[in-house]
Amino acid sequence: MSMAGKHVVVTGGGSGVGAEIARQFAAGGARVTIMGRREAPLRAIAKETGAFAVTADVTDRDELDVALSTARAENGPISIAIANAGAAPSTPFRKITGADFRASLAVNLEGVFNLWQATHEEMKTAGWGRLIAIASTAGLKGYPYVAPYCAAKHGVIGLTRALAQELGRSGLTVNAICPGFMDTPLLQDSIRTIMAGTGVDKDAATKTLIAGNPQKRLIDVAEVAGTALWLCSDAATSVNGHALSLSGGEV
Ligand code: NAP
Repeated sequence: MSMAGKHVVVTGGGSGVGAEIARQFAAGGARVTIMGRREAPLRAIAKETGAFAVTADVTDRDELDVALSTARAENGPISIAIANAGAAPSTPFRKITGADFRASLAVNLEGVFNLWQATHEEMKTAGWGRLIAIASTAGLKGYPYVAPYCAAKHGVIGLTRALAQELGRSGLTVNAICPGFMDTPLLQDSIRTIMAGTGVDKDAATKTLIAGNPQKRLIDVAEVAGTALWLCSDAATSVNGHALSLSGGEV
């Protein structure tokens, strides 16, 4: 699928799903910008893929705006914005502080708002654009010990549906991809938390996470990146306002 002539910005592009999205869009001929807070992982993925790397915290709108200006100077107007940055610490509900709750909403929900609001006008001007969020099955169902994350990801799906209605006549589509559990650094943190809390080994901890997936497996990051590519293809022009579950039928 050719992405030639398109500039895609991927937040959280230095690891996990974001890095795979950078690989697949770069292979498709897109100009790719990856963002995140840590420079070293961004630099490594930039070296591998030819992407342009710029540090930014998606919760800080001013910092993000500066990073996006740097990205435009390098790669031109932005045509695809993929809000992928996220974090999912596990904590029992009674121990969650207000600060924990706000921090989860900041990265998992406001970070999506910040990226999309900062980039949608140039897409409207071009008459074509794609706003994509890497949400989660946690946006479609509940999971224990991640209440702020579930609340934020449900919010991402509400944002997606609202904007799909509002921007539908502008040549933009707005969609959320909702993967089940995937083997990334984020999941490895969850597995370590389960092992520490329950005393089970890594295999058993992984099995508890995939128990809800009828295919009994982790989702491959390549499936998520491929879905994002498809959403940018002509074949998906009418796909707008969806929360696409990639979960083997879990939800
Ligand atoms: P990951 O490798 O930990 O990726 C998260 C990325 O987000 C990191 O590159 C991180 O880079 C970046 N990030 C975190 N906070 C940020 C902030 N404030 N500003 C900018 N960047 C920030 O884990 P992943 O699994 O690939 O996660 C990617 C997305 O997939 C997340 O939205 C996650 O919720 C979603 N997801 C994951 C799973 C799963 O099982 N792994 C399942 C469903 C959905 P820095 O730390 O350098 O900033």
